[in-house]
Amino acid sequence: MDIIFLGTSSGTPTKARNVSGLALLDEAGGDWTLVDCGEGTQHQLLRAPLSLMRLQAVFITHVHGDHCYGLPGLLASAGMLGRSAPLPIIAPAGIEAWIRSTVELTRLILPFELRFLATESLDRWERGNWVVEKAALSHRVPSFAYRFTEASTEARLDVGKLEAHGIPRGPVWGQLRSGADATYEGRTLRSSDYVYFPNRPRRIVVAGDNDRPALLRDSCKEAHVLVHEATFTKDLAEGPAKGFGHSSAAAVASFAESIGLPHLVLTHFSPRYQADADRSPSMEDLRREAMAHYHGKLFLAEDLARYRLDKTGQCSRVSE
Ligand SMILES: [Zn+2]
Repeated sequence: MDIIFLGTSSGTPTKARNVSGLALLDEAGGDWTLVDCGEGTQHQLLRAPLSLMRLQAVFITHVHGDHCYGLPGLLASAGMLGRSAPLPIIAPAGIEAWIRSTVELTRLILPFELRFLATESLDRWERGNWVVEKAALSHRVPSFAYRFTEASTEARLDVGKLEAHGIPRGPVWGQLRSGADATYEGRTLRSSDYVYFPNRPRRIVVAGDNDRPALLRDSCKEAHVLVHEATFTKDLAEGPAKGFGHSSAAAVASFAESIGLPHLVLTHFSPRYQADADRSPSMEDLRREAMAHYHGKLFLAEDLARYRLDKTGQCSRVSE
């Protein structure tokens, strides 16, 4: 499963970073899912291998504009490009009324159906090989995390056992591997006796804005990757920016360390943090602060960067 960041700035865009948006897709590409859709997200799509025709669903973490103001334009473009497949939009209450009135007031004619589901009433949502669940966070408005878990992983045959039991290579092997029981020379062979699953289901948690990372303790069980905002360094988050409802790099990193999380991806950085490490404050301040508290694999997300969580549960940056 790959993650492509479409926006990693908080509040306002910068020349290098758009506001929030993130795509989840298979290694092979093609079908993808969008989490948050800040203004300009559709422009970022033009620079990524992502087509609005292959968009499977949109998830919105909370109603703040830097996470959703890109939706009307993106939907209109999908319509103009000829999309006809219905589009599920899982979003907090309020987004549906806003989008429906915008569609009506701007006389937007969409050639595809919008299927809204309020995050508040989301229990479990399945599509393809992925199961999505939510967790409530703490922010100035209701904010949520979405947890994506692989529904099933690749099955392997216990070849040694098959050979030891005198079952020759052939259709019976395929049947057992697919999960079905089989018959061979009058014997009933149970799939579960000959199949094993070497990899744990992959799990990625994508959080919205949140000032209490510990709320994700349950959701992050068995998670391989957590994507979480680190809008500020600690001095700001606990000083002048206290009350904005955001986390510091230190707070998220400490939480990730406390649960033994293997990969942490920070995003949603205040535009004040500059790329040039010689300036102050800089992205390096955020990185240093996070590294002081976390010993797993740490990434500071960048726009259009692509990260891959492979089948064995290892995450690394693959391009851009
Ligand atoms: Zn935000």
